[in-house]
Amino acid sequence: MNADPHFRRVALIGFGLIGGSIARAAKLQGLASEIVTTARSEKTRARVAELGIVDQVVVTNAEAVKDADLVILCIPVGACGPVAEEIAAHLKPGAIVSDVGSVKGAVVRDMAPHLPKSAHFVPAHPVAGTEHSGPDSGFAELFINRWCILTPPEGTDAAATEHLRAFWAAMGAKVEVMTPDHHDLVLAITSHLPHLIAYTIVGTADELAQVTESEVIKFSAGGFRDFTRIAASDPTMWRDVFLANKEAVLEMLGTFTEDLSKLTRAIRRGDGEALFDHFTRTRAIRRGIVEIGQDSAAPDFGRQHGALKKP
Ligand code: NAP
Repeated sequence: MNADPHFRRVALIGFGLIGGSIARAAKLQGLASEIVTTARSEKTRARVAELGIVDQVVVTNAEAVKDADLVILCIPVGACGPVAEEIAAHLKPGAIVSDVGSVKGAVVRDMAPHLPKSAHFVPAHPVAGTEHSGPDSGFAELFINRWCILTPPEGTDAAATEHLRAFWAAMGAKVEVMTPDHHDLVLAITSHLPHLIAYTIVGTADELAQVTESEVIKFSAGGFRDFTRIAASDPTMWRDVFLANKEAVLEMLGTFTEDLSKLTRAIRRGDGEALFDHFTRTRAIRRGIVEIGQDSAAPDFGRQHGALKKP
């Protein structure tokens, strides 16, 4: 099915990294005749108005969704239930309601009971982001060549799913449909656990008494700084992710702990062969990621190195 990606009126509730990127990409690609936005704070709403990307900035969520054909909640996962309850009575019949939350099971559980039968609920997760947040952090190219996972509950109108698929594809995303539970399991290992490890390791280094803070920062290029980028991600968002995807994260954490014990044992026993085999396997995974275009092949993430001066 090749649906038209265009919507007449799109409402974005929340204008941070993701909401702001959708607004910029949708404007650039002409995917909406009108984009109306709201955010929780007056400060953000004022900034969005100043940026001049969207057509209208309104104060309440109810005003935002009025007459909208597509409503996307671009807010922390934990806020989705209460906002769904708030907008339910103001939705236009036939409107598509979606979100961008990094966890899907909890979002479906929290939002679905509030939404009227006349609305089409198609939850989504663009697997794209940076460690920045707020209205200035978004950019139109964020979703290019990144996955966007749709998790429509059983019985969702197929045409609504296809319309949203076309919208995301027109912003450059590769779209896949799966169940919320499967999404949460996959993302637990590919995104949630790496974030937990980064948060842990950066916290541990900070607490180490024998390494002064300045040395941690000074020698960070040894690998630590790549963890610090992930560990700088938004605290509200990530608190909500771990609370909402508790079961899958705990399951993956169990497997991770077992594997960590195996590597610990190999180091303790001086088992170089086990370490070498393991690191060879992980190196192949990195190469696979580069090969399918999910990251650049440039060494050291393409960071610039200074030039040597001629003596
Ligand atoms: P963000 O930059 O921090 O923006 C969040 C927006 O939500 C802001 O406009 C904020 O309004 C609003 N908001 C916060 N709490 C709210 C509440 N309780 N009720 C109503 N609005 C509220 O966040 P983001 O990175 O765009 O993340 C938004 C969603 O995208 C999250 O669900 C996250 O899981 C998902 N996501 C994030 C990434 C990523 O890498 N960041 C990637 C994929 C998906 P104020 O500014 O007025 O406070």
